[in-house]
Order: sequence, then C-alpha cells, then structure tokens
Amino acid sequence: MSNLRVTVWNEFRHEKSHEAVQKVYPNGIHNTLADGLREHGLTNVRTATLDEPENGLSEAVLAETDVLLWWGHMAHREVADETVDRVQARVLEGMGLVVLHSGHHSKIFRRLMGTSCSLRWREAGENERVWIVSPGHPIAEGLDPYIDIPEEEMYGEHFDIPAPDELVMVSWFKGGEVFRSGCCFYRGHGKIFYFRPGHETHPTYFHPGVRQVIANGTRWAAPTRSFAFTYGGGKTPNIKEPLEALG
Ligand code: ZN
Repeated sequence: MSNLRVTVWNEFRHEKSHEAVQKVYPNGIHNTLADGLREHGLTNVRTATLDEPENGLSEAVLAETDVLLWWGHMAHREVADETVDRVQARVLEGMGLVVLHSGHHSKIFRRLMGTSCSLRWREAGENERVWIVSPGHPIAEGLDPYIDIPEEEMYGEHFDIPAPDELVMVSWFKGGEVFRSGCCFYRGHGKIFYFRPGHETHPTYFHPGVRQVIANGTRWAAPTRSFAFTYGGGKTPNIKEPLEALG
C-alpha cells in the first residue's frame, strides 16, 4: 500500500483506431499500466487522456499528482502547449515524470531534455534484452540481471538525449543494435525516468519484469523534498520565477 498519488497519462488514440492495438490493450494502455502499478502496491492511481478537457491535466489534477506517467505516439502535436507548460512547471517544483517508449518524442520530454530526443527504430517484433547496468539503483530492485521481452520494436543509438544523470538499463536487439533504455534525469526539484519498452502492438505492459521496472521507477521519481524552497529575496516560495522570467 502506498499513498503516492500517481496519474497515468495516455494519448489513447491507437486503441480507438487500430484493431491490432485494441486486441492487445482492450482497456487502453493507461488502464493496463495502472493495473500494473496497483499489482505493486501503488493503489492511489488515476488515469488521464489527451481528449479530456485540458488534456486531462488541469492545474487541479497536477496539484494532486506526485508522479505522472506518460505514454504518447501519434498525437504528440495535439498536446496543448499550455499543458506542456503546466507539466514542466510541476516537474521543476518536484513532481516525478516517467516517460515511456514513444514518449521520447513528446513535447514535454523534448522540452525537459532540450534536445531532439530522436533515435533509430525498426518494427521488428524481435526479442529485446534489457540489461541492468546499475544493479544497486532503486529502479533495479528485485530484478534479475536482465529482462527478456519476447517481441518488441527496436530502438537504436544514437538516442539524442543529454547524457543521463544515471543510466540504469541498456537494451540489446537481435539486429545488433543497443540502446540506453533506462535513463534518469534531474530537472529542477523533479526526477524523470525514461523507460524504453512499450510499442503498442506488443503486450509489453503485461510483462512482469516490465511492470516491476515501471513500479520501481514510479517510486524512485516520487518527490523527496519535505520543505518549502525559496529563491531570490527569500520571502515566499517562488520556484516558478525562473520559468516566468523566461516567458
Ligand atoms: Zn513504438
């Protein structure tokens, strides 16, 4: 059991328009991810999707979110810039963000990274072997030396991200490619975990090892600051100031 407040965000389009995806995720990727978190004791989980008002991520929802999970692919451009502003501000305040698979090209991830976040890919349906390269990291807790996913899409280097602050996993693919598949970043007071697996036509989010990683990543990304932080003259907590100054 955990009081951690988690919101799973999914653009929720493939499941409506592609029969093959509907078959794999009849309840939507977001509900499958939420089930996986609940299985690991994270019971305070809600879901949000692109087509809800304010993309499902109003100030109120974000204020009640400790960690946000993000799955998107075909509709990155449809996420409102105002939504991206709100999410970025919350990350800088301390909200955790777990970005999954094709979320590498989401507006929010690219903004937080400051690079293109582009990569090489191939829809191979081959096995992916996710090697743990930081076995002492909290995200590796309870895992075997590697996770084998029977069928996945290939993502290969070069992955255009800043050097991760902590690299937890590296994936190997049958075509000979490798990929930094479990990456941790710190931005402002927030923690960001990028985890690669999860192409929509494969049942990856039912895989026990994958579910363990996502639950571990969610717990790792939880806010840890327990005091109000003050910048500038020190009168009020004004962590948003640097952002507003940029705008
Ligand atoms: Zn994909």
